[in-house]
Amino acid sequence: GERIVIVGSGQAAIQLAASLRQEGHEGPITLIGDEPGLPYQRPPLSKGYMKEGDPERLVLKPQSFFERNAITLCDATRVASIDRAARTVATDDGATHGYDQLVLATGARNVRPPIAGGTHSDVVELRTLAHAETIRRRLADTRHAIVVGGGFIGLEFAAMARLAGARVTVLESADRLMARAVSPAISDFVLAHHRAAGIAIRLGAKVARIDDEAERVVGVTLADGTGIEGDLVLVATGVAPNGELAAAAGLVVANGIVVDETLATGDPAISAIGDCASVPGPLGTHLRLESVQAAMDQARHLAKRIVHGTAAAYHAVPWFWSDQGALKLQIAGLTSGADRFETIRQEELVTVIIGYRDGQLASVETINAPGEHMAARKLLGREAPVGVDELRDSGFDLRALAK
Ligand code: FAD
Repeated sequence: GERIVIVGSGQAAIQLAASLRQEGHEGPITLIGDEPGLPYQRPPLSKGYMKEGDPERLVLKPQSFFERNAITLCDATRVASIDRAARTVATDDGATHGYDQLVLATGARNVRPPIAGGTHSDVVELRTLAHAETIRRRLADTRHAIVVGGGFIGLEFAAMARLAGARVTVLESADRLMARAVSPAISDFVLAHHRAAGIAIRLGAKVARIDDEAERVVGVTLADGTGIEGDLVLVATGVAPNGELAAAAGLVVANGIVVDETLATGDPAISAIGDCASVPGPLGTHLRLESVQAAMDQARHLAKRIVHGTAAAYHAVPWFWSDQGALKLQIAGLTSGADRFETIRQEELVTVIIGYRDGQLASVETINAPGEHMAARKLLGREAPVGVDELRDSGFDLRALAK
C-alpha cells in the first residue's frame, strides 16, 4: 500500500493515523513529531491538569496502540525539509523518509509579543506539556499571577490559578474578553463572573514592559504608566500556524497552509489538517480553526479520501468548548459570520445566545447549557438552514426543534 508520512504528532495527526487504519489502509504509516514522548491532548493543560498534574491522563493513545496498528512514531524528531520532486522528507537526525502521501499536521505555536523584559524566565507561556509542567511547579509559590491576554487560555488559566489560591490579574488590550471568538454578551457575562470570583481584569490594558528586581519579576507596567505587582507572568496572546516547512517547499501559506475543499494543498501528494491548515469556509472565505473538533473532523475526512479516493468536500459544523472555573462555555457554529445576536436564556450561571446571519441560524453560544449546545450542533448540521421564524415559532426551544 501507499506510504503515508504525517508531520506532527498532535490531535490531528493521531486521529488521522487511527482513522487510516479504521478505513482499511494497509501500507506503512509514519508519524514524525518534535515533542518527546507519547502524543497528548492539550485542552486539559489549562484546565484540570494544573490541579491533578498527572501526564498519564493526557495521553491520546498508549504505546500498545502504535504496536497493534503498526504505526511508527518518531518522537523528539523534527522534519527539516520536504523534497517534493523526490517525495521525501528530511529530519533533523539526518534520516529521510519517502512518502506517497504527505500530511502536514504541524499545529501552531504561541505568539510572544515583543514586550521589554518579556524573555525573563518568570514570564511563561502555555502550549505544550513542558510549558504546563514549568507553570505547575511555579504556581505553588506564586502569590500574584499576571495574565497577559484575555482569551480562552488566559482565562482558563486565571480561573484555575485563582482556585489554587493565587491573586490573579488579567490584562486584555481589547475592550472586551475573547473578542475574536464570542459575542459581546458572552464577553460581558464571563467578565462579571470572573470579577465576582475575585479575578482582577483590566480591559484596554496594553503592557509596556515587564519589571524585575534582583533577577525576579516583580510586576508589569502598562502603557499608561500604571504598575501592577506580580511574580509570575503568563503571556497568552494567541498563536501563529506552523507553516514554514510548507512555505519552504513552495506551497501556498496565508494564515495557515492553504488547502482546497478536499484538504489537499497545491501538490496533490501533500495535504494539511488541524491548527496549521487554512480550509475553505462559507461564502468563498478561507479560515483556520484552532479546535479539537476541526483537527479530528478534518483527520477523519482526509483518511476517507486517502483510502477510498473519494473527492467529497470537507464540511463540518464547528464547535468548541472552554471551561473557566464554574463556567462551561460552548460554541456551535461561527460567531464571526453573525450579523445579529439574541439572548434567549439568562440565569445566574446559565446563558444561551443565538447568532444570525441574514436571518438564519449561524451560531449558538451557551454557558452551562449542554443540552442546548448539542441541539444547536444538530440544527446547524441540517441541510436546510434554520430561519429566525422557525426558531421564534418554537419559542426558541432548540432541543424540541432538533428532535
Ligand atoms: P498540535 O496539537 O499543536 O500538534 C502539532 C504538533 O506538530 C506539535 O507537537 C508540534 O510541535 C509538531 N510539529 C510542528 N512542526 C513540526 C516539524 N517540522 N516536525 C515535527 N513536528 C512538528 N481546543 C478545543 O477545542 N477546546 C479546548 O478547550 C482547548 N483548550 C486548549 C488549551 C490549551 C492550553 C491549548 C494549547 C490548546 C487548546 N485547544 C483547545 C486547542 C487544541 O488543543 C488544538 O486545536 C489542537 O491541539 C490542534 O491539533 P493539531 O494536531 O492541529 O496541532
